[in-house]
Amino acid sequence: MLRLTDIRLPVDHDGRALKEAVALALGLRPDEILDISIFRRAYDARKKSAPSFVYTLDVSVSCGDELLINKGLAPNVSKSPYREFEFAPKARPGLALRPVIVGAGPCGYFAGLALAKMGFNPLILERGKPVKQRAADTFSFWKKAVLDPESNVQFGEGGAGAFSDGKLTTRIKDRQFIARKVLFELVNAGAPPEIAFVSKPHIGTYKLMGVVENLRKAILSLGGEIRFTARVEELVIKDGAICGVRLADGSLVESKTIILAVGHSARDTYEMLHRLGVALEPKPFSMGLRIEHPQALINRQQLGSNADNPLVGQADYSLVHHASNKRTVYTFCMCPGGKVLAAASEKNALVTNGMSQYARDDVNANSALVVGVEPADYPPGPLGGMEFQRQWEQKAFELGGGNYFAPAQLVGDFLAARPSSGAGAVTPSYKPGVRFAELASSLPGYIIEAIREAIPVFDRKIKGFAMPDAVLTGVETRTSSPVRILRDETGQSLTVKGLYPAGEGAGQAGGILSSAVDGIKAAVKAAEKMNREGE
Ligand SMILES: Cc1cc2nc3c(=O)[nH]c(=O)nc-3n(C[C@H](O)[C@H](O)[C@H](O)COP(=O)(O)OP(=O)(O)OC[C@H]3O[C@@H](n4cnc5c(N)ncnc54)[C@H](O)[C@@H]3O)c2cc1C
Repeated sequence: MLRLTDIRLPVDHDGRALKEAVALALGLRPDEILDISIFRRAYDARKKSAPSFVYTLDVSVSCGDELLINKGLAPNVSKSPYREFEFAPKARPGLALRPVIVGAGPCGYFAGLALAKMGFNPLILERGKPVKQRAADTFSFWKKAVLDPESNVQFGEGGAGAFSDGKLTTRIKDRQFIARKVLFELVNAGAPPEIAFVSKPHIGTYKLMGVVENLRKAILSLGGEIRFTARVEELVIKDGAICGVRLADGSLVESKTIILAVGHSARDTYEMLHRLGVALEPKPFSMGLRIEHPQALINRQQLGSNADNPLVGQADYSLVHHASNKRTVYTFCMCPGGKVLAAASEKNALVTNGMSQYARDDVNANSALVVGVEPADYPPGPLGGMEFQRQWEQKAFELGGGNYFAPAQLVGDFLAARPSSGAGAVTPSYKPGVRFAELASSLPGYIIEAIREAIPVFDRKIKGFAMPDAVLTGVETRTSSPVRILRDETGQSLTVKGLYPAGEGAGQAGGILSSAVDGIKAAVKAAEKMNREGE
């Protein structure tokens, strides 16, 4: 196969135009092109009057790749590095105990899928409920402000990303094409096919729920087992090696191979790990506020005359500002046409996040505006960052009035350091509701200062970003894990043999795609160990 990069075509081109462009780039006739597979399609809006798609393609030709390569090719043509990732190794017959995975988020489900495909019959233990029941509990929280600490935006089948924009971008290096494998598996499970190649793929909440159910069915059909409302309360460790887990109902599950994929909100689990002496360290993360603007404003500013072009879709943005107090402010998890979410998992605490549906057709654009927090900013010890998050989440809960309403402020008032009394042109989307207040005390002073400085700077990049009626909602604290569970090059905990900490909760990934990839890598390493040791 040949790899062609930088093939540019107008956004409304047809399939023939792509073949003709490929033939031209290779100096061949269109009928000599046997197959074109789109590896990546990016959108280039630099010329707002004539935006284009920019393709990276894998192409088969009738005259043979080698012939063309030997002939000498244009700089944008090379031998394709792409090789489909295969799940290996296969389970050796007669293994006594099956592997256990704790957590049914992207990391746990992809570890489960990989182990099931390799023939290891994994058992997945998930503290929350199946995704539909979980959705009912979560929607009820958003409507009635009654939080179920075991079934919410953070906990339950599908993990933290189940109610999200389902953005599938990652910055990890993917030399083995595992991320691509994840995208293909998601398409097999019902995700929109274009996620496999567009440069900013996303699935959206409702579609994601169906995808999660289909992943479950795939794991079960391959010999896996999944138990819901099965919270792991304690690891059972003997002589520095794992031999099982004890569940909240007191039962024991024996296994010498445990993949711990518990996400960044399993605070009780972190406490248990710390108590048992599992090697942990504090980790930087970010905290801040969510900002909401009219999506039409963002489209106009980012897309110009293409603001309403359905082929282009809703505009997003990504902004960074290095503030004079030496803190960096950046936009995070921007959700075009979406909603700000109540994402708490602990009683009497408040957490925001964002989501959108596949169509991204809600009226507001939202994004977190966050500032990096280092271990030096919070109390010492592996769990200092977790306690710090909790402290600010509880403070926001109080500021919101103690009923899961979020504290909110208009941007104009925030910049002028005066409290807001109600919404203007932008209706806040957060449910169960917001209470207008002063956000200055909702976060450490250095975060508020840095965000106050950044908003007018961002307004110079996107005119209207500092519109006085834009809404700020507090507080965004769960941007990534505040703890890292240390592991060695075999993927096992530094202190407990057979324990494979993985995904976002282990501080080893950030986001749906990278957590899924880390789950697969952990599964392959665990499989190799089980085959080697015969247990
Ligand atoms: C509202 C929201 C929107 C997001 N949007 C995006 C997005 O658009 N794109 C993106 O890339 N990322 C997004 N993220 C982040 C993304 O969801 C996470 O990075 C990802 O889910 C991490 O995967 P994970 O499997 O490592 O952990 P999680 O998804 O957190 O899964 C961990 C699972 O373990 C279970 N668990 C925890 N403790 C125990 C225990 N003791 N016993 C049994 N089970 C346990 C939990 O219930 C949970 O289901 C979003 C997150 C949220 C909350």
